[in-house]
Amino acid sequence: MAKMINPYDDKNYTFFGDVCKFIDEAANHLKYPKGLIEQIKQCNSVYQFNFPLSGKGEHDYQVIKGYRVQHSHHKLPVKGGIRFSISVNEDEVKALAALMSFKCALVNVPYGGAKGGVKIDPRNYTTEQLERITRRYTSELIKKNFIGPAIDVPAPDMGTGAREMAWIADTYATFHPDSINALGCVTGKPISQHGIRGRTEATGRGVYFGIREAVDRADDMKALGLERGIEGKRVIIQGLGNVGYYSAINLAKDGAKIIGIAEYDGGLYNESGIDIEAVIEHRKESGSITNFNGAKTIKNSLDLLEYDCDILIPAALENQITVKNAANIKAKLIAEAANGPVTPEAEEILIEKGCMIIPDLYLNAGGVTVSYFEWLKNLSRVSFGKIEKKNDEMKNRLMVEAIEKSSGQQLGKEHRDLLIKGAGEADLVDSGLEETMINGYNDLRGTMAEHKVKSLRKAAFINSVDKIAINYLDMGIFP
Ligand code: GLU
Repeated sequence: MAKMINPYDDKNYTFFGDVCKFIDEAANHLKYPKGLIEQIKQCNSVYQFNFPLSGKGEHDYQVIKGYRVQHSHHKLPVKGGIRFSISVNEDEVKALAALMSFKCALVNVPYGGAKGGVKIDPRNYTTEQLERITRRYTSELIKKNFIGPAIDVPAPDMGTGAREMAWIADTYATFHPDSINALGCVTGKPISQHGIRGRTEATGRGVYFGIREAVDRADDMKALGLERGIEGKRVIIQGLGNVGYYSAINLAKDGAKIIGIAEYDGGLYNESGIDIEAVIEHRKESGSITNFNGAKTIKNSLDLLEYDCDILIPAALENQITVKNAANIKAKLIAEAANGPVTPEAEEILIEKGCMIIPDLYLNAGGVTVSYFEWLKNLSRVSFGKIEKKNDEMKNRLMVEAIEKSSGQQLGKEHRDLLIKGAGEADLVDSGLEETMINGYNDLRGTMAEHKVKSLRKAAFINSVDKIAINYLDMGIFP
């Protein structure tokens, strides 16, 4: 079975070390005291714990390892997902927690960064066991005050989803029956459990908005030898999980061709484009994307990263493009939907080759952006648009009718409906997400120009380190 690259094969490698390198580089462009940069770099709290999971027999149990890392308390609560994966380790959780701080700062979502993890392969556990693991994990966080709507607010990440978030919310609420804000202790919940419309698709939809912004700049595209716009772009995607799926279907809707899909157990390739929904159906029936009859099966899915394409979207694990394969990458644009898929050394090789990288800090910020909206909804206990929608509709209708009367012209049905319709929760979430991604890209380009840097990632770190530093200075901690 073909595997994704495991960076921990290299004994000297640390993911957190990679993130620190980016922070140091950003600091070189800024004028802040060394001590302040060190504070910004370090993880403020690292909590590692173990708990038993009993099996069927009386003496049958296993020890489960859990983590929660709070990287930066410059803003509270801290925020970040919980990952269920066998590759979870302290270094990984620290790095991912740090990335959350910079991601939130970059897109102006007012949180510090955090991340959690449970070292299990969720595919090896029954639903009942996963529920016990999730509830026990939550209890361990409660015991140490590592969760709460004003303290630390988890969310889905790799291997977890709305179901796990509902278990977390229920466990927390059980321990805090008198807290009216208890349901704001976690985001990414099912809609019926005080979640928000659009959260499930948010990260992938944000990836789409980010790519759309990047490919809309004719000069940048010309430099890459590409046409402006999404239409006709040949895309290879690694990872067809939640983020990969929603990125792919949104891009395909705008006319992109998904020519390759890489998964942990094999890949698919078809130069004429692959029907994503049909692949999902096929996987539901067979358990794997491989042997899908609308594409050629590629045994070693990592090879697909090196195939010719316009846009490569790593949407799986960190450290997939390293010094080992960077020189062979043919994509002109790499869009980091996953966290940390390109190492700093690989990035240097790619930039040298003229490749453009849209960094994770910016590109996958859609998830936490919509999490922020969910948290606001939980604290205010009213869904967006609920109060004003009908009233807006009534006013819009009067306005449209007045315009039609005075102009003597009837608007077409489509335009009429669009003008009259008041915005509901899904519309508002999507518009807030789109606005955040557009502004984020413009900010990145602004920082690039101001600091004369060639890489969007450098700009992302400069922009976010600067914002966090200002925050600390304004708190009076570093006079
Ligand atoms: N796990 C997601 C991320 O890495 C979402 C975090 C959140 O919504 O808090 O950005």
